[in-house]
Amino acid sequence: MSITTSLNKITDSIPEHCTLVAVSKTKPIESIHSCYEAGQRDFGENKVQELVDKAESLPPDIQWHMIGHLQRNKVKYIAPFVNLIHGVDSSRLLTEIEKRAKNEDRIINCLLQIHIAEEDSKFGFDEQEVLNLIEQNSFQELAHARITGLMGMATFTEDEAQVRKEFRSLKKLYDKLSSSIPNPHQMEVLSMGMSGDYQIAIEEGSTMVRIGSAIFGSRP
Ligand SMILES: *Cc1c(COP(=O)(O)O)cnc(C)c1O
Repeated sequence: MSITTSLNKITDSIPEHCTLVAVSKTKPIESIHSCYEAGQRDFGENKVQELVDKAESLPPDIQWHMIGHLQRNKVKYIAPFVNLIHGVDSSRLLTEIEKRAKNEDRIINCLLQIHIAEEDSKFGFDEQEVLNLIEQNSFQELAHARITGLMGMATFTEDEAQVRKEFRSLKKLYDKLSSSIPNPHQMEVLSMGMSGDYQIAIEEGSTMVRIGSAIFGSRP
């Protein structure tokens, strides 16, 4: 199946209120261009250098999403243009994004990454850590880094009930924060769902899915 056929199939299968981020990591410029020609504008990458290189050689109206783990010393490279940072997993990273966004005279929208999977992962906050974070003075002072939602990844398993349970827990936290996160931060994006589990994620309230292999084919 061609990339555009796969893209159209997925676009047709997700509701209008849900944004599709086409995850183009490891894929060549030409593949991204095919999606662009078919109307896709949101693309996600998980490595800073690759993101910067691709952004330079593709049309400027693409909305770039940084979906991978982001090291503090690399924020400066994407700060001028990135549309949304999905993987904010520490208060120190947030402080660095604030600094670089201020330098660029921009507001950078960010999602807090929440650890919902059973699997061990170094990345992501748990619920209590997020509640503590939004109470911190440094959080209250953010003027250029803005939290606009949450991102999570479910356990990689065939067990649908497990995946659903994890997405549901993320949605629950999202709803809780919707009424408690201080302005100008707000909950408007719930980024959950990948090629293997996006349908479940949408049923559980996802507003943004990140889909790679189901569009571009499997990665090496
Ligand atoms: C690679 C990646 C995706 C896309 O994964 P697929 O299974 O290829 O759809 C989504 N989110 C994150 C954070 C990723 O790293």
